[in-house]
Amino acid sequence: MTASALDSGIKLVKNVVRYNIGAGSLGELDSLLGALRKNATENRADTRVVFMVDEYFSSNSNIRSRLSVESNDFIEFVSTEKEPYTTAINDLVAKIVGLGITNPVAVVGLGGGITMDTAKAVSNLLTNGGRAEEYQGWDLVKKPGIFKVGIPSISGTGAEATRTCVMTNPANGLKLGMNSDFTVFDHVIMDPELTATVPREQYFYTGMDAYIHCVEALAGSYRNAIGDAYSRETINLCRQVFLEDDMMTAKNRERLMVASYLGGCAIATSYVGLVHPLSAGLSVVLGLHHCVANCIVMRAMQEFYPQAYDEFWSMVDKQGVSIPQGVCANLGEKDFKALYEASTMHQKPLTNALGVDYKSILTLEKVTSLFKKM
Ligand code: ZN
Repeated sequence: MTASALDSGIKLVKNVVRYNIGAGSLGELDSLLGALRKNATENRADTRVVFMVDEYFSSNSNIRSRLSVESNDFIEFVSTEKEPYTTAINDLVAKIVGLGITNPVAVVGLGGGITMDTAKAVSNLLTNGGRAEEYQGWDLVKKPGIFKVGIPSISGTGAEATRTCVMTNPANGLKLGMNSDFTVFDHVIMDPELTATVPREQYFYTGMDAYIHCVEALAGSYRNAIGDAYSRETINLCRQVFLEDDMMTAKNRERLMVASYLGGCAIATSYVGLVHPLSAGLSVVLGLHHCVANCIVMRAMQEFYPQAYDEFWSMVDKQGVSIPQGVCANLGEKDFKALYEASTMHQKPLTNALGVDYKSILTLEKVTSLFKKM
């Protein structure tokens, strides 16, 4: 039997409603918010906007004017030190509601995956009520959130395109997003000028998230024609970017922004494979960030993804970036057991990569030997 979109459990796919793309497109935000505020004024509704902005921009003196922030608006500079916790999202929503902002005209997220995911979660909670952890899962969000605008300032995670917002509940360690049609952005602005100042290594690690998503999807068994098409073009664009001398030219920053978006669309119709579960293990047990953790996992992927392994390391050489090594060097038996548990719990992607009997391949001994290579 051929696998189809139905076999992956994904029957219906919602994409971003509208987007702007191209250098300078951030300038479109002013008229977009202006129209929403005007509409709210006419309906005697709240005209305020809630902004979630990556803390990286907090010292940028003209960020408020570039985003058309008005004096009554709410702006939060989101810390990217840790990936989103449900508790932090609940606190943020309480702070916004505490200021009397229950029905703003829009929630705007400017930043990387952490900031955009935070904006999506806040938007859904403002209209649905309750706490973030109540919506971790599939289709638990009951009504549309506040109008969501996503503006990526780094490319690769695909958070601008997906129907989820990844978050961890610290009470039970569950890392799972609000998978819902209502989590998709209503409007995305992709302006490659925003990625011009990203540090090179960060740019590489994050960009590789798009490449790795699609390598895993194309090597998996839950396949469908649309997901494959998105994945192939994402990989194609990543090759153009990372095998050229300078991955950060204006042209390459635009290509990578498109690759990130298409990679997000790809993953919305398919599953990742072995890299992401092992990477999640590194994040949960050692606190490593998602994108750098993926790159570290690639150290152990030669036997599973031989072609991508060679290509990945040639891209690393070409761009002269360094990938951390020896992150599990000083760990003991207990730590490896924790890494094993945190990795092998990801049933769907591991079945996608290795089949239903994946645990017969990924024994504790095998998983330990993989982590020792990192
Ligand atoms: Zn990823």
